[in-house]
Amino acid sequence: MLKHELRWNPLLREWIIVAGHRRARPWRPEEKKRMCPFCPGAPEIGDRADWDVMVLPNKYPALRPDALEPKSRRGLFRTAAAKGFCEVVIETPEHEGDLCNLSLEHMKKVVDAYTEEYRKLGHEDFVKYVMIFRNKGKEIGVSLTHPHSQIYALPFIPPRPRRELESCRDYHLKEGRCLICDILAQETQEGERLIYENDHMIAFLPFYAMWPYEVHIVPRKHVRSLMDLKEEEKYHLADILRAVTAIYNALFDFDMPYIMVFHQEPTDGNDYGYYHMHIEFYPPYRERDKLKYAAGIEWGAGTFTYDGIPEEKARELRRAGHKAIEKGDYLGYVP
Ligand SMILES: [Zn+2]
Ligand SMILES: [Zn+2]
Ligand SMILES: [Zn+2]
Repeated sequence: MLKHELRWNPLLREWIIVAGHRRARPWRPEEKKRMCPFCPGAPEIGDRADWDVMVLPNKYPALRPDALEPKSRRGLFRTAAAKGFCEVVIETPEHEGDLCNLSLEHMKKVVDAYTEEYRKLGHEDFVKYVMIFRNKGKEIGVSLTHPHSQIYALPFIPPRPRRELESCRDYHLKEGRCLICDILAQETQEGERLIYENDHMIAFLPFYAMWPYEVHIVPRKHVRSLMDLKEEEKYHLADILRAVTAIYNALFDFDMPYIMVFHQEPTDGNDYGYYHMHIEFYPPYRERDKLKYAAGIEWGAGTFTYDGIPEEKARELRRAGHKAIEKGDYLGYVP
């Protein structure tokens, strides 16, 4: 029988997505020549090559809209239907590259696709949270290298966004202001961890970064989700996504692996006016030839050790930025 359900961890108070069928997922099938499922000519894509961005359902979804309701609850062991959507955003027909290799116009189409899927999936009443993310690089276990990002439409608000939401809500109750607007103001004022900025967006290595080269992108304007962004602001988001990935790739002169996630307001119908959308990047390197692993203290305690000094790492990124940004057609600058 196909095992497909959510299991509740009553100790940590969070859901686990059990997806037994995902064992069948192919591991880097494109390494066997001409087998990339995202290249034009592949069965899922068809022969058309006149597209820039394509959204497809994930072939091995962890969540599905028709997931069955679980039969029963046994004592403390509770399950729920793994109801949701898993999609793949194929960002280009080109087999190689990163976001920085797309033109601004092309990257804007990717941002439009994210916005449209967030709107569409969030509209389903069982979808409480739409998580847009991008995994890049074999170091973090990416099974397909063709440029793509993913979207999980979840039937619950996952723990990290939930904690952020609670902090923003509490801060707003107490101070009457947005916590993230205030963090942005302080980062801008201190200035030493800023990485890149344009008219509408700022990228910085947060004061409290967990990963050595972690970077957050925050819209200057208080917006809760992509849907609040105007056209011009979406161009500037596209620009800063290109810039940050270009800076990463210039840092060590190799293709930097990373995880990129969008934190936006939930889509459960409640009012989250106190929340401020942003994008987080976690690259796994701590030096040119050393990976940072989440190990005993990180996993067991949930406490990160930062190998290095955030202000120095930010300086390294800015130096790489001067190199990368001068060469390209960007809307902003490295402070
Ligand atoms: Zn491909
Ligand atoms: Zn704000
Ligand atoms: Zn966040």
